[in-house]
Amino acid sequence: MKTRRTFLKQSAQLSLSALFFSHLIACKSGDKKMEETIKEEIKKKLALNPDATYMMDYISGDVGFFSERGGTIGWIANKEGVVVVDTQFPDQSKNLITELQKINDTKIDLVINTHHHGDHSAGNSAYTGITDRILAHENSKANQERVATERNQEGRVLPDDTFADKRTEKIAGETISLHYFGAGHTDGDAIIHFENNNVVHMGDLMFNRRFPYIDKSAGANIENWISILDKTKSTFNPETKFIFGHSDNGHDILGNLDDISAFKNYLEKLLVFGKESISAGKELQELKKSATEIPGAPEWKGKGIERSLDAVYTELAS
Ligand SMILES: [Zn+2]
Repeated sequence: MKTRRTFLKQSAQLSLSALFFSHLIACKSGDKKMEETIKEEIKKKLALNPDATYMMDYISGDVGFFSERGGTIGWIANKEGVVVVDTQFPDQSKNLITELQKINDTKIDLVINTHHHGDHSAGNSAYTGITDRILAHENSKANQERVATERNQEGRVLPDDTFADKRTEKIAGETISLHYFGAGHTDGDAIIHFENNNVVHMGDLMFNRRFPYIDKSAGANIENWISILDKTKSTFNPETKFIFGHSDNGHDILGNLDDISAFKNYLEKLLVFGKESISAGKELQELKKSATEIPGAPEWKGKGIERSLDAVYTELAS
């Protein structure tokens, strides 16, 4: 319990997330000196491995997050059990496992993949021999198999357990529900709810203030993605704490229902903009050169608007 007490003490100091986000901003601004100073501060406060390149903390009770490179990881760890949601890449998973083993070094009871993308599932291989099961939506497993074959990825470790609509697991004194609300970011995105702690991992169904990747090659659907966010709003509540797959520079990887509503607005405005642009006879290539934001959703910024435009034109043409 030493690690837990350390985390909690540092959470109480409150400067932690401020430091973390200052670090992100420093990274993006290219100020190496500031970045190094902030990194040192974070390490001191968390008492993590002195070479730590990652960030982790508790969110509620024994549920926390971890982030280094790739989609944010969620976890629960106590003497009764350990569950991990998403695995980034092998080196990142190894770092997380080292930290979780300070809390419980027996085994990892369950690994869940929110979807098939490599920055959420390539780290599965780090769990070989130390977990009983890797669980994902059945379409996520099929996508992982397909991509591994297409790209000749021999070392990829696939899920060995799947679900279709809903699954409930009781591990680590927690009730963990997996929900599937249809195609969104891909056709196999699971939403994971740590019910007692009321923490939800949205995977890449949430890009916080950052242009999303909409993977049409894996069955993504913008219109249904909007319905998924509606179902998210009616299934969870204002007290629910959400983990997001990705966020833009300076924006949090944790949030609440207001952020879900804001992203729903982005997708709605994207569909409207796509329909209006097509009606006005605008060529996709032309639009990709000129558009810098989606009208009505100015908070979504940065690079990658062309991925949204490609996806909306593809969807509306079909
Ligand atoms: Zn993804």
